[in-house]
Amino acid sequence: MKHLQSIKLIEKKAIAENTYSFIFTRPSNFKFISGQFVQFHFKVNENNVTRSYSICSTEFDENIEFCIKFLENGLASNYLKKMKLGSKINISGPFGKFVFKNNNIKNHFFIATGVGIAPIASILDNQLKVKSNLNNDFSLLFGLRHENNIFWLEKLKNWNKFENFQYKLSLSQPSQSWSGLQGRVTSHLPINTNDTMFYLCGNMNMVKEVRNLLMKKGVKTENICFEIF
Ligand SMILES: Cc1cc2nc3c(=O)[nH]c(=O)nc-3n(C[C@H](O)[C@H](O)[C@H](O)COP(=O)(O)OP(=O)(O)OC[C@H]3O[C@@H](n4cnc5c(N)ncnc54)[C@H](O)[C@@H]3O)c2cc1C
Repeated sequence: MKHLQSIKLIEKKAIAENTYSFIFTRPSNFKFISGQFVQFHFKVNENNVTRSYSICSTEFDENIEFCIKFLENGLASNYLKKMKLGSKINISGPFGKFVFKNNNIKNHFFIATGVGIAPIASILDNQLKVKSNLNNDFSLLFGLRHENNIFWLEKLKNWNKFENFQYKLSLSQPSQSWSGLQGRVTSHLPINTNDTMFYLCGNMNMVKEVRNLLMKKGVKTENICFEIF
């Protein structure tokens, strides 16, 4: 039997097309490591439903935040869309091993598409802002489809203030007026993959494809960790 804890919704806001930030109260005994996820438990038509969501805030924040993409006809998507401020939901966890690898590797390269940035945001905030980790270099390759899908530019700019952080934001289907980087993340993988730990998060196809490309470049499987949404 899973240990369930009840959390209360205190903020819900759209951050991009079909993408929402949800902030919940955090139970005082709820501990987690940046990069981990929880399971939401709720009922739809008397059926129990469970869905996983990565925590995008850090363990040092007072509340817990999630970044959630609503899918058309998705069970959780529709449930969360209707959820009112002040209402509660049960969670279990935390779960997962998609966390910062504190090894001897100097470079930590994160690749996210869409809301796959959620656990990575927690890890980067923790390493750069909370822990002031200057021993490692951090890179982020963030892939989105269109300008309407862009979110967290503020976070990107804040991380960019750290000299050991760099990022690329690439749109796969931008409008004609987009002057930034274009193409899928697979077009922008680093040339030099030596002494680098990779973290991939997004849909199954992206993770599989990027993982294969990295392995072809000679990256060892133990230096690629991933989370599939
Ligand atoms: C470890 C982990 C962490 C995750 N973290 C996040 C996160 O931080 N943010 C996030 O947004 N998501 C995250 N996810 C994904 C999340 O768990 C859900 O899968 C996602 O939100 C969709 O759930 P849903 O109930 O809304 O959609 P579902 O009801 O599961 O449906 C998914 C899709 O299938 C379609 N579909 C459903 N039933 C049918 C059917 N019978 N026939 C045809 N099509 C159908 C729906 O229209 C929808 O497009 C994570 C997943 C994992 C495994």
